[in-house]
Amino acid sequence: MDASSTSRPKSRAEVSIVRHPDFYFSDGSVVIIVEKTAFRVHQSLLARHSDVFKGMWEVPQPQRADTYDGCPSVILQDSVNDFVDVMKVLYDTFHFDKINPDTSLSHLITFIAGILRISTKYNMLQLRNKCIDIIQEKFPSSLKGCDEVLTRGIKYVPSEIVRIIPLARETTVPKVLPWAFYLCAHISVDEILANNVLSWRDKALCLAGKERLWELQKKETHFFLLDFKQAPTCTTGCQTRVMVPRQLKLSDIESLRINPHPLEEYTDWKSLMICIKCQAMVESQHKEGREKVWQKLPTLFHLGTWDDINKDQSC
Ligand SMILES: [Zn+2]
Repeated sequence: MDASSTSRPKSRAEVSIVRHPDFYFSDGSVVIIVEKTAFRVHQSLLARHSDVFKGMWEVPQPQRADTYDGCPSVILQDSVNDFVDVMKVLYDTFHFDKINPDTSLSHLITFIAGILRISTKYNMLQLRNKCIDIIQEKFPSSLKGCDEVLTRGIKYVPSEIVRIIPLARETTVPKVLPWAFYLCAHISVDEILANNVLSWRDKALCLAGKERLWELQKKETHFFLLDFKQAPTCTTGCQTRVMVPRQLKLSDIESLRINPHPLEEYTDWKSLMICIKCQAMVESQHKEGREKVWQKLPTLFHLGTWDDINKDQSC
């Protein structure tokens, strides 16, 4: 117990409050109490990052809890873990360096979740943008970005990343939702139903999206594997001799239906054994199909259009 805390008797409310071991600075100018944990920190530092914190002690607030340990204090209704994460960013210069390209997606989501929630609520724009940049590297909002993550072979375990959906909704980061839903459409029906993170509405969207993605894969992107039609300029009769439709077994089709992946770029053109004219036509249709799927992706999950999404997420 330091000297300043003994200057006056503590009220009963103060007694039950615990000082955070790392973020209770003797030269701190304000005390923030979150879930009965007190943080004595520097108002000038908070104000530098957030106009909400800047104004917090300028205008009397209804929830203002007087003073604590001789400093102006305020009680915030947040999660203490989230708040600690933000304190780490503000006071530990290299906190963000703790994540690197090898960090698992599950850990990455845990790492940024609290910072994103607090920075959104208190309008800490730099921090919020930093978090969004980090997740958008893994959850792209352009087909080019999607191709990059597919090429990089990022390991997405849908059951581990499903948390990104409620987080993105809560913190208004809709840009990451189409790709997140696309990935989560690969979770089995039973697993989606048993999931305790997604809302029932989002569960329904995942299930409906699964069906729609498979429809698009059959009709727009990988149709040639199921129903090949030769190019009008074909002179070698590819349609009659193409082997591919017969190569796809029922089990392959069933697996595609359960795990639709229309955005997967098809590259094994040689195995189709078709003439160069047919290949050029099918390649071009496949490319157009992928662009079409990407454009439609948000609407498949009732997220509006990409334009709506970009409007909703100003940064
Ligand atoms: Zn041909």
